[in-house]
Amino acid sequence: MKKLIIPKNILTVNEQNEVVKNYAIEIENETIVKILPKDNFDLTNFDGEIFNFPNLTLMPGFVQTHIHLCQAMFRGLAEDMELLDWLQTRIFPLENSHSPNSLRLSTQIGIHELQRGGTTTLLDMGTINHEEVIFDELKKANMRAIAGKCMMDINDLYPDFIESTKDSLKQSYELAKEFHNTNNGMLKYGFAPRFVLSCTEELLTETKELMNDFSGSIYHTHSSENKSEIETVKLMHNMENIEYFDSINILSDHTVLAHGIHVNEKEVELLKESKTRISHCPSANLKLGSGIADIPRYLEKNISVSLGADGAPCNNNLSQFTEMRLASLIQKPIHGPKSMDALTVFRLATIEGAKALHLENEIGSIEVGKKADLVLLNLEKPNQTLIDENIYSTIIYSANQENVEEVMINGNWVVSKGKSNFYDEDKLYHDSKTELDELLKRANIQ
Ligand SMILES: [Zn+2]
Repeated sequence: MKKLIIPKNILTVNEQNEVVKNYAIEIENETIVKILPKDNFDLTNFDGEIFNFPNLTLMPGFVQTHIHLCQAMFRGLAEDMELLDWLQTRIFPLENSHSPNSLRLSTQIGIHELQRGGTTTLLDMGTINHEEVIFDELKKANMRAIAGKCMMDINDLYPDFIESTKDSLKQSYELAKEFHNTNNGMLKYGFAPRFVLSCTEELLTETKELMNDFSGSIYHTHSSENKSEIETVKLMHNMENIEYFDSINILSDHTVLAHGIHVNEKEVELLKESKTRISHCPSANLKLGSGIADIPRYLEKNISVSLGADGAPCNNNLSQFTEMRLASLIQKPIHGPKSMDALTVFRLATIEGAKALHLENEIGSIEVGKKADLVLLNLEKPNQTLIDENIYSTIIYSANQENVEEVMINGNWVVSKGKSNFYDEDKLYHDSKTELDELLKRANIQ
């Protein structure tokens, strides 16, 4: 099946960051096969569907490299707390009370918001139980994702929410066998030990071993987010967080660390040498009062940085627009107004996310041979700049998900005219509310 999309302009995000006008792109099944001036196409004899969007800007879909779909339902339930309290009194009891059905609705809420906001690929950390539900929903919603169950075999903060080392490894292995490289390669497995405080050394190192059986899988964890967290890591292991990961051979180009805020000079060098990826989550870092990661320093050292919204209860959005805006603005008082310019940040939100996940040959830019993961923005609205120049700053500083009109993943439309093609918003809201009431009773939270 062929499709021809004729937008107003195309932000290719290729090596040269070309922006072209009066071009069209041809898609055959899931792949972009031609990007040519629109006059090169014979529209009357085109043997496929033609989508004419003369007012819309075409860009590659956003890639978010740190998300917790399982927490989407908990938005607003854990306000004004720092990380360890937030986990102990809210997030762990809530995650521990998920039933398959509540997890299903939480996943749907998350995917709905992400797709509606132009995110087409994500790296997800699930919860301990029912991970198969998340994979089922990702598949049904045609989402491109690397996902995996959260692994925790220590929990001093909330001892009810734990599993044995053996069970954690066994379940993760079985899930990876079942889901890695499924749905035509759109779904992959990402092993997800939560963070040092919730994992024995055996769990952390054995997980790395498991990855050998799953080429293209990712090691996804949190690191150096909060000062109390790293103090505890030091008490446990006599080292800083990333130094500890290095000492047990966790760092690699297939490792994604969320946050990376409180790190020393030696750790920055370790990240660089090992090609470890940092997922920067500015909203979550601000809301939990964790700190500001020194992203300009990472970029100067060519350390991989990409963006993620983290969990809905520490954000409270799942919007890449919000993360881009903050990623830029929070650095300016420290590093000056020229730091984290709009084009740099736009690349972190797209192609750099793809590279972080080793998906840059498939997604992250609009180029012939890549998968058609595309977003069409309507920037011809009164909330936008009235000139066509500086398109990246328009997107980073002025746009939001209300400007997203159409979203395609792997050649299929998932959002049309600003509405999800999978979910009925009203039903999703009401079903989720009912399910959350039940979950709060189980969690014994008022
Ligand atoms: Zn997180």
